Amino acid sequence: MSEIVLAVDLGGTNIRMAAVSADGTIHVSARGKTPPDVSPAQLIDLTGELVNECVGKGLSMAEVTAFAYAAPAPAAKANDGVLTRLPNLPTLDGMPLSDLLFERFSLPVILENDATAAAIGEAWLGASRTVENSLMVTLGTGVGGGLILNREPYRGIDGTAGEIGHICVEPAGHPCGCGSRGCVEQYASATAVVRMANEAGIRVDSARELHEKAVDGDEAAAAVFHRMGSYLGIMLAGLINTINPEMIVLGGGLSAGWDAFLGAVHDEIRNRSFKAPAERVRLARAELGDDAGIIGAARTAFLIHRHKH
Ligand SMILES: [Zn+2]
Repeated sequence: MSEIVLAVDLGGTNIRMAAVSADGTIHVSARGKTPPDVSPAQLIDLTGELVNECVGKGLSMAEVTAFAYAAPAPAAKANDGVLTRLPNLPTLDGMPLSDLLFERFSLPVILENDATAAAIGEAWLGASRTVENSLMVTLGTGVGGGLILNREPYRGIDGTAGEIGHICVEPAGHPCGCGSRGCVEQYASATAVVRMANEAGIRVDSARELHEKAVDGDEAAAAVFHRMGSYLGIMLAGLINTINPEMIVLGGGLSAGWDAFLGAVHDEIRNRSFKAPAERVRLARAELGDDAGIIGAARTAFLIHRHKH
């Protein structure tokens, strides 16, 4: 009998589940919408519905050894499985996720930060699989980050390592949900790009729409991406000096438009970082797409499980 981990990627908009085996193969999967203001009880019920969908597609629960939950919350090394500090899912703050899932399914639960999970997935089977030190940057609704140092995820003592989205790049800039101002998330996320476009009088509803305009030669749209890339580059220039990574992997929905902002990122890195780490670092597109977090969270569960034998 093969071992299966049921991995879940919980986001502010969508929730996805996949049955993953120890080699990273996804067998069956299911997806749903995260309800606005989701309650802990609703999340457990929703998880149950996704489990039933996977079973309906052929999953045998007898093969499942653990849940692996990737969530937009810090996951400390102690890993008590309690969700805390979720700016995009505040109604789940304080939820004892692992205990509640265990009560319902009698399976051990591993909680992993979503961006760290994506970094682990890419370092295992994706873009950064050949390097020892990498930084994963997710450009989506927010800006997230995950660190792999000497092939190991680095979570920090409180699980907040890699929270790069709230590095300040504009001291008196746009207010941020974290309580600060001018965080890079307010300039380099998909949400921010749409806001900056609207501020510039460009009527678009999504970053993809703005990217299409830029590709079609709209100079104002291109300028928004240039501005976004500059702020991202300012942040990365500091991290390149600090971490000296071999690779920076760019993922998340907005990374699809990287041709529109990569030049500005490179300019800032060239102008601001030390020469050696700036010449060393490679910027790469993520390869696992939406599956990176699922695969990375499953990887964490398999490694912890193995250590227990
Ligand atoms: Zn912030």
